[in-house]
Amino acid sequence: MRSVRREHAACDALRTFLRDLHESRFGRVLPRQEEAELVLKLKARPGEDWALSFHPSLGEQLTAQLDDWQAGRNVYREGRAYCFRCDTSECEHARPASPLEVFKEYAPNGMPEWHELAQALLAAGDDRVDRLYREGGGIVAMFQPGRLLRSRQLSSFGRSSRTYAILAQVAAGFFQMARGATGETAPRLAVSFQAVEGRGAQGELLLRLNLVAGTDPVELREQLASGWQPALYRAWKTAAQEIERLERLAREAAQGGTAESMSEILRRVPGVMRRLAESLERGGRQEARRTHHVERRRQEQRPVHKALEDVRAVAAGMAFEDEKAGTTVACGPQSRAHAFNRDGRHVTSFVLRPQAIDLRLRTRRWRVLTPEEVAEFKRRVEQYVPDQKDIAPPLS
Ligand SMILES: [Zn+2]
Repeated sequence: MRSVRREHAACDALRTFLRDLHESRFGRVLPRQEEAELVLKLKARPGEDWALSFHPSLGEQLTAQLDDWQAGRNVYREGRAYCFRCDTSECEHARPASPLEVFKEYAPNGMPEWHELAQALLAAGDDRVDRLYREGGGIVAMFQPGRLLRSRQLSSFGRSSRTYAILAQVAAGFFQMARGATGETAPRLAVSFQAVEGRGAQGELLLRLNLVAGTDPVELREQLASGWQPALYRAWKTAAQEIERLERLAREAAQGGTAESMSEILRRVPGVMRRLAESLERGGRQEARRTHHVERRRQEQRPVHKALEDVRAVAAGMAFEDEKAGTTVACGPQSRAHAFNRDGRHVTSFVLRPQAIDLRLRTRRWRVLTPEEVAEFKRRVEQYVPDQKDIAPPLS
């Protein structure tokens, strides 16, 4: 009877040691395995009252094996939120169902919930929702602390997990995509920027800035990196570098190498995310202005190209001198007329009916250019070199 009791006590001591070891390393979320084998190596010395020794130590042996269990889990995955209910980032709950959706919160059972960005703003009483669908409304970016995202989540479903914890989120949108996964043009995309704390295969701290969206994560990163929206790219990059730096500091802190403790360093993560939200919005405004600027320049430049074409092909008797205005006017097909100054710079383009040309000639406001004058006019237009002030500033 005594031996059974002792066996039970030894087993129980080992059990609690193992349980606490795992929790200190990976938090309260249990490993995925229902059952796994552990092998222990120990030596006994009968002559020394059966002294037991472990080489490596008991803790080291168990830790190494627990790490192996953990290594295969792939808890953190780019472009996905972890689902505690299914214990994976691969299930259908781990990403939004639509490009307009952002991460809402964890359900009590640890399952990620999603909702449309507009809904997220409404739920938070954020009046920027009006800007979402307005032309030139820019980017709306809302900061959310991690505790808000797991306020309904139960402890037994990962609420206090250190293996995977969203420390803070910025729900932002809409980003105009170059193309959609399904081929539609320029779809709107909402993105959940998540600062995630995780654990690596050896139990080491991981800090990541994850981009979770209803599109292929690789494609999204490639599009960001391709200079698609430079200001937004810079905002994202800056935050990612900050998070990386905090990861380094937190790891040093875990080894006692810094004055600040690890949890003090992790408390700096929300600040990084708040700044990300601000710079996304600022970047969005810049992009909106830039797009507007490019669009306006395109519209301004279109007649210039057309004007040049029409000058080159101008028919005999269809180029005129306007003495009073000091311009030369070339008339092209479809009632197009283009005025140039003496230097050959394009001044303006307008529509002019043939009767209007006749009227200007009859009233001697216009004079038909001689073939020599036409040749000289064409030469000046072709050779016109714009002044510095006429050159568009480089797009930044
Ligand atoms: Zn799931």
